[in-house]
Amino acid sequence: MLGTMQDEQLSLATLLKYAADFQGDRTVSTWTGDGVRTQTFRELGSDAARLANALRGLGIGEGDRVATFMWNNNEHMIAYIAVPAMGAVLHPLNVRLFPEQLVYIANHAEDHVVIVDASLLSHFSELLPKLKTVRHVIVANGDAAKLTAPAGVQVHAWRDVLSEQYDSYAFPVLDERSAAGMCYTSGTTGEPKGVVYTHRSNWLHSMQLVAPSGFGFTAGDTILAIVPLFHANAWGIPYAALMSGTSLLLPDCFRQPEPLLAMMAATKPTFAAAVPTVWSGVLTALEANPQDISHLRTAVVGGAALAPAMMHVFEEKYGVRLLHVWGMTETSPLGTAAHPPVGTAKEEAWSYRYTQGRFPAAVQARLTAYDGTAVPNDGVSLGELEVRGPWVTGAYYSPGESLVDPEKFRDGWLRTGDVGTISPNGFLSIADRSKDVIKSGGEWISSVNLENAVMAHPAVVEAAVIAVPDEKWDERPLVAVVAAENTCVTPVDLRNHLVTDFAKWQLPEHWAFVDEVPKTSVGKFDKKRLRDMYAAGELT
Ligand code: ADP
Repeated sequence: MLGTMQDEQLSLATLLKYAADFQGDRTVSTWTGDGVRTQTFRELGSDAARLANALRGLGIGEGDRVATFMWNNNEHMIAYIAVPAMGAVLHPLNVRLFPEQLVYIANHAEDHVVIVDASLLSHFSELLPKLKTVRHVIVANGDAAKLTAPAGVQVHAWRDVLSEQYDSYAFPVLDERSAAGMCYTSGTTGEPKGVVYTHRSNWLHSMQLVAPSGFGFTAGDTILAIVPLFHANAWGIPYAALMSGTSLLLPDCFRQPEPLLAMMAATKPTFAAAVPTVWSGVLTALEANPQDISHLRTAVVGGAALAPAMMHVFEEKYGVRLLHVWGMTETSPLGTAAHPPVGTAKEEAWSYRYTQGRFPAAVQARLTAYDGTAVPNDGVSLGELEVRGPWVTGAYYSPGESLVDPEKFRDGWLRTGDVGTISPNGFLSIADRSKDVIKSGGEWISSVNLENAVMAHPAVVEAAVIAVPDEKWDERPLVAVVAAENTCVTPVDLRNHLVTDFAKWQLPEHWAFVDEVPKTSVGKFDKKRLRDMYAAGELT
């Protein structure tokens, strides 16, 4: 027997309509360097309709890819909702990737249009002649005339294109399984691979984000979205904000700690979201120039492991709760969020908050040993994490077909490449990426645990651990350390600091002091680069 409920398709156009009509006074603002430029959700709705009309005028139809090459700003947000709402596919390009990777990705995705921020034109003009399927470029926030296009490509100015259009659009009713957006993994561990989100996956993922067991933001909140809109589906924040009436504050290209603190002082957001290295930069700047940031009721931290020491400083010294989350481009990205079980006493609650968090009902999870056998959820046994669910990808994008790579999928489950434990009540603790774990004498040493422990030393700003080859043990850990200014900490001090928490055989004997840990295009520790530096003899 079937139920009697309406078979309403979940479409992102409904979020746009809801936000513009019923949450019309909420705002999206972009930091300009010394203030904000703001528009209401109502105005966002009108601009989204104008952009959809303009794109249709350029021949864009359902399923066509519209790429963006932009910072986090209002125009990017307009594209984020207008493109999928009209049935086209939004493809945010990571502006920090190397040109060869960008060319590969844009050609692989077969992008038809690229919306480019004028401040990125010199970078973009290098790529454009190599983009095989791009026919139109729309330049936002500056002078389109500065771009010389190859034959067959037309250049348009955002302002001219939008000003000629109607501010309403008959957004189509789409199959909820149609493609809404695509993102490529940032290639931390190999060639970038594309994931295609659907209207349904983004809709359901938004419901999880606004739920108290997700991010839990509301119509009273303003979220400072530091995470780039081109990273991992922007963590789902644009769509969840429209769903919940949460105002958005976008930092544009000002992602360094000082401007981030200036925009917080000026606008007092209640939420923020960024990877751990951003928060460690903010912390260093705060320690140099203290400022009240207790207006942040939650700062969401994910994309890489969050060091417990940092959670304590933010909470105890600055009154800001850091919420640890885990996810991947492949999981839309929210997979877990570290909310302790209701009623847990404060001290015990910390042990839950250090974990990557608890799975929501929609994300099923299991651990698998390397021989494919099941690993129990006992909070101790390590295995590779595999997940499935309505916002988890079932394949990678490959033109004309989907690619179910057996290395990455097993019986309909996504193999995450992350190694960890799951507690009996569903909390995930990631020990490492399978590629980063140190295999020493037949045992594993978690690089993440070592990093967290070293970073808890007061004289350490950042620490990243990689495996280096060892004749006797196969691999041993090497710690690259950034020491705080005006300190003279030594490897012996740091080793002594680890003695109580690690077995003797786990203690690193290789230490390198560096000015800075190299970062990936989305701000994570770049362990590939560290391994190259080691091979080149630069980490001694
Ligand atoms: P890339 O693989 O290129 O870095 P993603 O941004 O999609 O692309 O990264 C997903 C990966 O980031 C996860 O598989 C995991 O290894 C890591 N990650 C994400 N969140 C956390 C976290 N809270 N703790 C530890 N690792 C995390």
